[in-house]
Amino acid sequence: LVRMKGVNKHFGDLHVLKDIDLEVARGEVVMIIGPSGSGKSTLCRTINRLETIDSGEITVDGKPLPSEGRGLARLRADVGMVFQSFNLFAHKSVLQNVTLGPVKVRRKDRGAAEQRARELLDRVGVGNQAEKLPAQLSGGQQQRVAIARALAMDPKVMLFDEPTSALDPEMINEVLDTMVSLAKAGMTMVVVTHEMGFARRAADRVVFMADGAIVEQNTPEEFFTNPRSERAKDFLGKVL
Ligand code: ATP
Ligand code: MG
Repeated sequence: LVRMKGVNKHFGDLHVLKDIDLEVARGEVVMIIGPSGSGKSTLCRTINRLETIDSGEITVDGKPLPSEGRGLARLRADVGMVFQSFNLFAHKSVLQNVTLGPVKVRRKDRGAAEQRARELLDRVGVGNQAEKLPAQLSGGQQQRVAIARALAMDPKVMLFDEPTSALDPEMINEVLDTMVSLAKAGMTMVVVTHEMGFARRAADRVVFMADGAIVEQNTPEEFFTNPRSERAKDFLGKVL
């Protein structure tokens, strides 16, 4: 569903993505882990063109990424993204946050969009918060609204960039549980995470990045019990 081939990206002199080859199959859950600054967020952001690339190819569902206009808006709807900071619209209600995209980008009828939004808010466990403003919700609830908002666009794939790292510990699990149930429902997901237990239990495949390159990738069982590279051994030694 997502294919990256020979992707390179620089920020000035810094080579942040080095010949990245990555394929994500439909329904697959790929988790990206690695040290700070290794390029995980940048990789994620190139998939919905929040970052441009210098060379190589990226396709989503067989099509190269559009660079502007309505094509780009549609790409961002097809490739849902949830960030560390929830990025909800502060002055709009929870319900409005979830209906805005479907009405504006997918041209959905408002009534249908609201019905679907309420279903999704129920599904992520915040159905009773629909009329509130984001600031009236806990961090974990806000993050689940952000997930519902991305889902409302009927994305083909969901990208998560450390969705729990800004949360208080007691709220991390409610967000991870939401992601696990999404994965079980068959959603294609690319997840950057520092939650190793979560990666181990919920990933189909773990991709380990260091210094802008994919150093190794494997099933979580293999990766966590038997890392091959020194970089991965060193990393796991520090985080586990
Ligand atoms: P973390 O685990 O800390 O989130 P990361 O693996 O997500 O790290 P990236 O955010 O992708 O790493 O950053 C990769 C490198 O690119 C870092 O050295 C970072 O400082 C640099 N970088 C990221 N964004 C920019 C930017 N907009 N301009 C210049 N350099 C950047
Ligand atoms: Mg990052």
